[in-house]
Amino acid sequence: MSNELFDFDEILEYSSTDELIISTYLLVDGARTTKKGYLSELNSMIAKTKDNIELASGFEKSRQKNIFNTLDKIKSYVGDSYKRENEKTLLIYAGTNSHLWKVYKLPIILKSKIIVDPKPNTQSLRSLLSNYKKYGVLLIDREKAQIYQVYLGKIREYLAAYISEVPPKVNFRFESGLREKKILGKIGEKLHQFYRTLNENIFDFFKDNKFDYLILAGRKKIINEFQNYLHSYLLAMVIGTFEEELSVREQAILDKANKIIGDFELDNLNNAIDKLIDDLEPRGFGVLGLKKIIDSLMANNIKTLIFMEDYIARGYTCPACGYITLKLQEKCPYCDNELIHLNDIIDEIVESALNQGSEVLPVKENEKLKKHGKIGAVLRYKF
Ligand SMILES: [Zn+2]
Repeated sequence: MSNELFDFDEILEYSSTDELIISTYLLVDGARTTKKGYLSELNSMIAKTKDNIELASGFEKSRQKNIFNTLDKIKSYVGDSYKRENEKTLLIYAGTNSHLWKVYKLPIILKSKIIVDPKPNTQSLRSLLSNYKKYGVLLIDREKAQIYQVYLGKIREYLAAYISEVPPKVNFRFESGLREKKILGKIGEKLHQFYRTLNENIFDFFKDNKFDYLILAGRKKIINEFQNYLHSYLLAMVIGTFEEELSVREQAILDKANKIIGDFELDNLNNAIDKLIDDLEPRGFGVLGLKKIIDSLMANNIKTLIFMEDYIARGYTCPACGYITLKLQEKCPYCDNELIHLNDIIDEIVESALNQGSEVLPVKENEKLKKHGKIGAVLRYKF
């Protein structure tokens, strides 16, 4: 399974040691940069990091050598082995003294940076992960059921329940409503108990924070039967169903689930854009256009940021505090540092919004948003 690609636990639960970890975020988005472009960005970040390490006093020679070697390893990985697909940001965690080496291909733009620290830099990663919904897929037949989680476009297999494990004798005296008796008459006690167990299992899976939405899969008749057993709370989270056999390969389940998830997310996205544009401030909570977005961002006032994926805009930023502006000013108004010019400030805006806990929604196609400045936001409160 290729799930290792999205196994974040080791990084998120990492405990610091004496070892330094190099965290490299590299923007590789095909709409913003070429291979030549991101390689040259990486090289200049590596050169700058080496300079800083040399300037910092207190590094033993051997330690410094390990850091430099690891930086070179990152450089040759990106230059020689890495093939860009459709990811927007490449994220590499590399140990300077151990075999720690994790590569993630992230579906959203983040600012390029290298951080050398006793622990992996995970702020942007954590913000990003909290921005993505998790989907549970429950695949059932009359003998067996399997739960999967689909997250960030990857599938992971979790719990399997078997009807053979259901206790043979069940006592219905205290819980048999009329509806239940009717169903029971049709499907038999063993299956009845299997569905009940399954409902409990999937509810536990939900309480474990394993999914935000649920998809049911199996034969139509079985899904319909089982829905009578599904907790009403979970029933409200079902976003779709599909027909599938339990013996099928994981990839086939992922493909069908992705279709449902894609439609669901696209609907939500288009609705969010309609609502934003119909509900503009000062009457409502919507704002459009880069200037207003930056003002709202600086006031920590963005609930949801929505932007066209190919939108690029020039601007200025303060390297010290993250202040962003469209116009060049003498000094940063917050910390007096010199501002730097950037050919694209959208990754700065996205990262800053994520770190403020905003929901961030990149948009591939939407005529309405395209006409209205390509970037918009729903505010937390009115100005
Ligand atoms: Zn500043």
